[in-house]
Amino acid sequence: MRQNIVAGNWKLNTTLQEGVKLATELNEILASKTINCGVVVGVPSTHITEVVKAVDAGKIGVAAQNCADQESGAYTGEISAAMVKSTGAGHVILGHSERREYYGETNATLKVKTDLALANGLTPIFCIGEVLEEREAEKQNEVVKSQIEEALFHLSADEFAKIVIAYEPVWAIGTGKVASPEQAQEIHAYIRSVIADKYSAEVADNTSILYGGSCKPGNAKELFANPDVDGGLIGGASLKAEDFYGIIAAF
Ligand code: PEP
Repeated sequence: MRQNIVAGNWKLNTTLQEGVKLATELNEILASKTINCGVVVGVPSTHITEVVKAVDAGKIGVAAQNCADQESGAYTGEISAAMVKSTGAGHVILGHSERREYYGETNATLKVKTDLALANGLTPIFCIGEVLEEREAEKQNEVVKSQIEEALFHLSADEFAKIVIAYEPVWAIGTGKVASPEQAQEIHAYIRSVIADKYSAEVADNTSILYGGSCKPGNAKELFANPDVDGGLIGGASLKAEDFYGIIAAF
C-alpha cells in the first residue's frame, strides 16, 4: 500500500542556525502529535547533518534538494548522491522545475541523477509538471508522460517502486494559484495510469504521487481527499513549522 507523504522544500532559504531552529520547532510540534503520514524536510545540503541530529528519525526524514549527475571527480561545487547519503539524508528531490528552468536540467540529466540516487540508497522525490502555456494548450498529460518516460521508464519495476512522484504544475509553484482538487485528481489518476501501463497496476497502486504548488493549511485537506493525491511537496508553507504542521495534520 502506498504511503501518504508531506515533504517540505526549503529551497535557498535559512542559514544553518535558522534551519536547525525550524527543524527543532517542527520536531517539537510533532513530538506530541499522532502523525498519519510520512514527513520529510528538503533542506539545503549544508544543513542536512545538523537537521538529521535535530529531529526524531522515526517521524521526520531529511532530503537533499539535488545531487550531482556524476559519481565523483573534478566537478567543482557539486554534491554527489554518495555524499548526500553519507550525511544521513534518506531522500533527494530531483527534477524540480526551478532546477529544470534555471540550471538547464533535462530529462536525460535527471535519468542519470535518478540512477545515482537509487544506487546510493536514496529515495528520489521526482518532480514533473507542465508550464502555463502547456496547460492552456491542454498538453499537460503529454508533458508529464514524456517527463516520466524519458527520465524514469528505463528503471526496472523493483527500482521504480522506490520512486516518489511529485506532480507540480509550474504555474502553481510559489504563485498562490493552486490546482483545483478536480485538476489535481484528474492528472494524478492519469500519471498513475501511465505507470500502470508501463509496469503493472500493482506498481502504480503502490506509487506515492504528491501534489505541489501553493499547497497551504487551508487547501491541503481538499487536495489530499482525492484518491490519487497521496500528499504534497510544499515550498513556502514549509518554512513555518506551524504552517507545515497544518498541512501534515490534513491527514
Ligand atoms: C515547490 O517549490 O515545490 C512548491 C510547491 O512551492 P510552493 O508550495 O511555494 O508553491
